[in-house]
This record gives sequence, structure tokens and C-alpha cells, in this order.
Amino acid sequence: MNRYLLVTFALCLLIRGIAPACELETAAKGVKPFDVRTVPDPVLRQMASPVDLAEISTPEFNKLIVRMVATLDKSEGIGIAAPQVGISSQIFLVRILTKHLERHSHMNARPLTVVINPEIEVVNETLLPYREGCLSIPGFSGIVQRPRHIRIRYVDMNGNSQEEEINSLNAIVFLHENDHLVGRLISDYWIDVEKR
Ligand SMILES: [Zn+2]
Repeated sequence: MNRYLLVTFALCLLIRGIAPACELETAAKGVKPFDVRTVPDPVLRQMASPVDLAEISTPEFNKLIVRMVATLDKSEGIGIAAPQVGISSQIFLVRILTKHLERHSHMNARPLTVVINPEIEVVNETLLPYREGCLSIPGFSGIVQRPRHIRIRYVDMNGNSQEEEINSLNAIVFLHENDHLVGRLISDYWIDVEKR
């Protein structure tokens, strides 16, 4: 068992409620990832539809999420939204690993989080500028300004409602992914664009 899996399983035991996330990550090993859709694919510009909550408990839905996790693994990203794999549904994943903190030192690590049908409320409108990239716009990054403190309500993989307050750079990650659900991309409002 590699170190990452060991740490994940330890976290699973310690933190109630994320066991399904651990199962998803284990199930994703060896699963074929999706091809990530890139600009100008029109699916990236659609308004994503809410997920019918009755679907969450189905094997098909589980399969979709597992394949999204496999895609996140392959791309080494910190988040991915369903439209980026060609599915216009209100779903995104966020997972911030220790290795990501080398590049994003002010983020906090967080285990895999599956966000379904999110609603975001801005708690503090003060804007935080940050250089962002996007798997759907490969090779470029730009500075985007986003609110630094949000409250998010969503449904998790168990079909349970969740509410969290999220700060600073972690809030940026959730806002970036949420943008994908309304057809918005960083290129709509970034400045100081750089080729990576
Ligand atoms: Zn993106």
C-alpha cells in the first residue's frame, strides 16, 4: 500500500463522514479517466442541470463519480466539474493534497469532497486576487479576483445536505469549480495572462 493510500485510510478512520470518499478513491484506481473537455467545447458554456437526488444512490451515479475521481487523479488537479468531462450536471469534486500545497502554500489540504447541487453565498465580499489555471484551458494562467469567504450548501454522496463556511484560497477553489456549473471560465475575467 503506498503512502498516500495509507494516509487516506488513516483519515477515513479518524474523520466520520468521509468514508464514502475513501471508497471512491479506491474504486478509481484502474478506472479509465474521462477526456477533459477544453475550450471552445460548447459544454463548458452551458448552464448545468441540477442532479435529481434520487439518482445519487444509483450504481450509474457512483460510476460517474468514480470516473471523475480517476480523471482528477490523472490530471493532478485540485478540482474538476462535471461539464469538464462533458456532463452538464451540477457536480464538482475538490481534493487538495499535500503535494498541491507546494504550489498553493496558503491553501489547506482537504480530503475528496463531492459537491452536488451547490448554492454559494458570499460571506465577505473582500476580493482576493490569485493566479488560477484550469484543466479546460491548458497552458495558461491568469489572475482572478474572488470573494475570500463563502458559505456553501450542497448535497453529498450520501444524499445528505451539507453546509460549510470556507475561507481564503480554499474558497477560491470552490468558486472556480462552481463557475463551471454556470458556464463561466476564468478567461472571462482573468488579467495578467501568462503562458505556463
Ligand atoms: Zn476550471
